Amino acid sequence: MKKFEYMEKYGYEQLVFFHDEATGLKGITCIHNTQLGPSLGGTRLWNYDNEDEATIDVLRLARGMTFKAAAAGLNLGGGKTVLIGDAENVKSEGYFRALGRYVQTLNGRYITAEDINVGTKDLDFVNMETDYVVGLAHKSGNPSPKTALGAFHGIRASLKAVFGSSKIEGKTFAVQGAGQTGDFLIGYLREAKAKKIYFTEINDKHIKKINEKYPDVDFVKPDDIYGLDVDVFAPCALGAVINDKTIKQLQCKIVAGTANNVPEDEEKHSQALKDKGILYAPDFVINAGGLINVYHELQGYNENNAVNDIKKIYDRLDAIYTIARDNDVHTQQAALMFAEERIKLISRVRSNFVKRG
Ligand code: NAD
Repeated sequence: MKKFEYMEKYGYEQLVFFHDEATGLKGITCIHNTQLGPSLGGTRLWNYDNEDEATIDVLRLARGMTFKAAAAGLNLGGGKTVLIGDAENVKSEGYFRALGRYVQTLNGRYITAEDINVGTKDLDFVNMETDYVVGLAHKSGNPSPKTALGAFHGIRASLKAVFGSSKIEGKTFAVQGAGQTGDFLIGYLREAKAKKIYFTEINDKHIKKINEKYPDVDFVKPDDIYGLDVDVFAPCALGAVINDKTIKQLQCKIVAGTANNVPEDEEKHSQALKDKGILYAPDFVINAGGLINVYHELQGYNENNAVNDIKKIYDRLDAIYTIARDNDVHTQQAALMFAEERIKLISRVRSNFVKRG
């Protein structure tokens, strides 16, 4: 792939390849943009078919983090690391300590965290070698409940935009996926007196778990979740679930959940939702609760402060819906405008000389 051409087109700062002879660690760190602050993004371990596939993934994910952090009001830029390897075979203390040493060489321009196949136990090893790692078990811990909490407030903002009231009470919901985030989201919705909640799952253990915990929450088969006559469809499982096939089936007024990359084609399917009169809560805005939570580790973790910041997802979505209305654009586009505007503004604010310390 033509790496410099791609980097120039989308404004990337840095792409770093690294290899550790002792452990076989092979990885790529990408720093997309640091105008707001150090880049932050998790490390993903995946058995990529080839180096180009890994490179494209890290570039795409790092850029996504820039917009996610900017829209979340954080002083962070976007970055990401991918490791090329089979998670079943490569993981060891040495492997993750080697990763930590490479993270340290970037001298704080990039901060890592967990992602697919890299958990808090692995990060403990990374932490032995670098100061630039967050999401540690003994600090902010598992981000999933906080991601779900952010989605809950995002759903409230979306209800306000559609029905004029943010009340969960009296509204109906279809939750796709009852894993870590879906389970917590169902809990928050029940607590707020949702009128009816349906869920779907493909994992029998999780179906049993929800049936036992919440007997009033009804299971539906995976393919039946899209066509339910509910107010909110909450995707909390996979990406690309909003596509040509599913949009036709949707009866809901709002799509708002924790999943990443919800529209299969960001432009086409965000527009299709708008055309159908369905409000879409842009994924990277509504699911930023976990990121906001780990960000608080950088300033000494305090759960109350983190939760207060996570609640602001409500106001950010409110502002994004206004931009979408005023400019007659789909909400994904409005969210990008919102994030870009903040990056531009803060860069300008910081362009003068100020002596500190
Ligand atoms: P998870 O793996 O714990 O849960 C996902 C659940 O979805 C699993 O139980 C799985 O069995 C189920 N599932 C998979 N395919 C399904 C299908 N076709 N129909 C119904 N259920 C299906 O994952 P999670 O941590 O809850 O994350 C869910 C989504 O949210 C992912 O897209 C993830 O990238 C995104 N996300 C998570 C966090 C976080 O803090 N965990 C943060 C930001 C974004």
